Amino acid sequence: MKVNEDRFLKDLHDLREFGAAGVGKGVVRPAFSKDDVAARKWLATRMSEAGLTPHVDPVGNLFGLADGPSLLLGSHSDSQPEGGWLDGALGVIAALEVARASHEASGPKVSVVSFEDEEGRFGVTTGSAVWSGQLPLEEADELTDHAGVTFSAARACFAEMAGDFVDPTRFSGFIEMHIEQGPVLDTANEQIGVVSDIVGIRDMRITCDGQQNHAGTTPMHLRQDAFQALSAFNTAINTRFRNVVTPTTVWTIGHVTLHPNASSIVPGRATFSMQWRDAEVDRLDRLNTIIRETASEIAEKTGLRVRFGPMLGLDPVAMDMRLRTALEQAAKATAPEKWRVMPSGALHDATNVARLMPVAMLFVPSINGISHAFEEDTAEPDLVAGLHVLARAVSNLT
Ligand SMILES: [Zn+2]
Repeated sequence: MKVNEDRFLKDLHDLREFGAAGVGKGVVRPAFSKDDVAARKWLATRMSEAGLTPHVDPVGNLFGLADGPSLLLGSHSDSQPEGGWLDGALGVIAALEVARASHEASGPKVSVVSFEDEEGRFGVTTGSAVWSGQLPLEEADELTDHAGVTFSAARACFAEMAGDFVDPTRFSGFIEMHIEQGPVLDTANEQIGVVSDIVGIRDMRITCDGQQNHAGTTPMHLRQDAFQALSAFNTAINTRFRNVVTPTTVWTIGHVTLHPNASSIVPGRATFSMQWRDAEVDRLDRLNTIIRETASEIAEKTGLRVRFGPMLGLDPVAMDMRLRTALEQAAKATAPEKWRVMPSGALHDATNVARLMPVAMLFVPSINGISHAFEEDTAEPDLVAGLHVLARAVSNLT
C-alpha cells in the first residue's frame, strides 16, 4: 500500500477547522459540543469516501468499518477545553489514511475509530470505557460535567444517527498512534516511540485531623498543625520513595484543602490528593504501603489522626508483543537510530480496548513536550514518519 502524505496532512488541517481557536494551532472541541458533532459528521463522510461504512454507537464513538474481519486503528477526536490540533486527531487521521490507502491497493482490511470523550468531560476515557465494559452505560449516564449536564443528556445529540455497540470480535487488534505529550523524544531528537506499556495509576484522598487554634497564642510545641503534618509527609515520602522508584515513576500532590484556610488560624484539618503512576503493579503496591506507613507514623508522632479515602486507579497494561514487534520493525525501517521503546505516562483509549483485544501504541514527538495547550505541535516530518511506521506495521502484520 502507498500512503499519501499530502492527503493525510490536508485532512489533519481540515479537521482542525472544527473548533479552531487560540494561538498557533489551538482547538476547542470538547466531547458532544457543536464542533465535536460536526467534526464527527465530516469524519463519517471521509470514511465513506475511503470505502468504509460509518457507524456511530450509543455513546458517540464513530467507527469506519471495513467489510469482514479487520485490524482497528484510531484514537479520539474530542479535545480538552483548551487543546491542541493533534491530541487524538493525529491517530484518527493517520488511521483514515492507512485504511484508505489499503482499500485502494486491495491490501489488508483496516477499520477506523474515533472514540468519544477521551478527554473526560464526564468520566475518564468515557467512550472507550463504556464500549470495553470497564464502565457500565447506566453508571456513565449518571456522570455530570462541571456545568451539571449529565452524560445521558449529552449523548442524546447522537440519538438519531446512533446504532448498536460494535461487536469487538470483528477486530483482530487495535493500534493507536498518538503524540507523546512529554519531552522524551523531542529532547533526544528522535522521531518514533514504540510503547512498551501504559502506566498504571493510583489516586487516593488523605485527611489529617489536628487541632484548630489561635495562631497568636498557641505555643509551637503545643500545636497540632495539620499543614505541618502534610509538609512533613511530603518531605518524608520524597526520601523514602527513592529506594523503590524508577526514573519513570511519578507522584503528585495536586489538590490540597486546609481548614479553615485562614492566616491567623492554626489549620485543624488538611485534605489532599495523593496520585502515583508506574508501569508495575508491584511497585504501585509498595508505594501505597510507604504512603500509608509514613502518614500514620507522622500522625502518631505529632498527635494527629489520619484517614485514607478509597483508592481509585487503573492497572498498567502491557502492549501486545506481536503488534509491538510489527511497530518496532517498521520504526527501524522508517527512522533508523531515531526511535526507541518507551512507556506511556498518560492514559489512552488503548488501556480500555486492551480488555477486548491485543493493543499497541506508537508516539511521535511533541515540540518542547507541550500538550493540553494551544501551543501543542509536532514537526511535519515527524507526523509523516509516524504515518509511514503505522502503514508499514499494518503491512508487516498481514
Ligand atoms: Zn489524547
